Amino acid sequence: MHGYYIWTIGCQMNKADSERLESALDQMGMSPTESPQTADVIVLNSCVVRQSAEDKVVGMVTSLKPLKQEYPDKVVALMGCMVGPKTDKLRKRFPYVDVFMRPQEFQPLIEMLGERMDIDTDGCVGQLVARAEVTTYIPIIHGCDKFCTFCIIPYRRGREVSRPVEDIVREARLLAQRGVREVTLLGQNVDSYGHDLPEAPDLGDLLEAVNEIEGLDRIRFLTSHPNDMSDHIIEKVASLDKVCEHINLPFQAGDDNVLASMRRGYTNDGYRRKVEEIRERIPNVSLSTDVIVGFSGESDAQFQKTQELIRDIRFDKVHTAAYSTRQGTIADRTMTDDVPHEEKQARLKSLDALQESISREINSTYLDRTVEVLVEGRKRGRWYGRNRNDKLVYFDADIDVKGRMLDITIEDTSPWSLQGSLAPVLARS
Ligand code: SF4
Repeated sequence: MHGYYIWTIGCQMNKADSERLESALDQMGMSPTESPQTADVIVLNSCVVRQSAEDKVVGMVTSLKPLKQEYPDKVVALMGCMVGPKTDKLRKRFPYVDVFMRPQEFQPLIEMLGERMDIDTDGCVGQLVARAEVTTYIPIIHGCDKFCTFCIIPYRRGREVSRPVEDIVREARLLAQRGVREVTLLGQNVDSYGHDLPEAPDLGDLLEAVNEIEGLDRIRFLTSHPNDMSDHIIEKVASLDKVCEHINLPFQAGDDNVLASMRRGYTNDGYRRKVEEIRERIPNVSLSTDVIVGFSGESDAQFQKTQELIRDIRFDKVHTAAYSTRQGTIADRTMTDDVPHEEKQARLKSLDALQESISREINSTYLDRTVEVLVEGRKRGRWYGRNRNDKLVYFDADIDVKGRMLDITIEDTSPWSLQGSLAPVLARS
């Protein structure tokens, strides 16, 4: 039996890719190991969205050099966004790496392992599916066409390529048969799903098809773009019973000039109108967002617009990041990263404090309410799961309740989670 070790950094897309590769390696008769030292195959799934992530990947690849020199039979693979269309530079820099794979390109590794292990891998790549956990991710669209000026993704993951509806439905059905109860349909911009397919189905059509699958209880989708979240998609989220009432809708900055220099394609006002429309049609929806502070040229007055938007909209969750230039982006070529580091940190701190108080208030409204939780597992000695609005809920139970849909009565709340206990009737299913 051969062992593999996969190290992953970055976004949910990367995590989903790693899960699919794990599943393929399992099918080939391999098993996961605890460390690179005990593995025959070591895969590093890289991310370059931030410089700090890229630095960690470089540190990790470099640290494997002595191991590979001592055990030359170990296979070392580097995959993900760090591997661009040309690998010449990477090959020169890391000559001891055996395989370089772009995101979703698992073939080179699987074929190499198939040859070494003398097993037939035909069909293995074509049938890559996610791991059958209680909840799992299904990539539906790869790449991005938006070219926001700060973002490296379109250069590394390429232009948008949607998977056919039938492929996704087949995978979701198979997962449901294996016990998966919730799937998250994944992409850099899921709202633009389907435009490149022959019949041009949209995300709403796909949600409708996945909603029909027996055994599946919940469907989520990640990430949305305000310009592509159409009436049809909103209507399907509102009307389909399995689609959860939670939307991650990044706004990135509150000032119109900053939004224009980010090339986001909408204004502060346009974003607010989109949120109003969503809330009108899906009354119990929860919203999260992504924000960048300290983008090139962002003044304090412009940053205040971001604060104002967060204060007005009252998101359930805000993912904040300080801007840092990524080499190769439009911003890197044409703008200056001129907001001082200390200023970016101060803005982050003030946004995080504001959001903490909003999340605290929103979550406190759950006190004494009973919510339906899909139990994902155990963490810090307690069971945990999420409600339909994506709230993390902790509770205790004496029996194994993983994978069950339970009613939990909320007894305590914090800005980050809800804590409760089993409602009188233990199991809903
Ligand atoms: S929408 Fe913009 S930020 Fe999101 S992946 Fe595409 S280019 Fe990057």
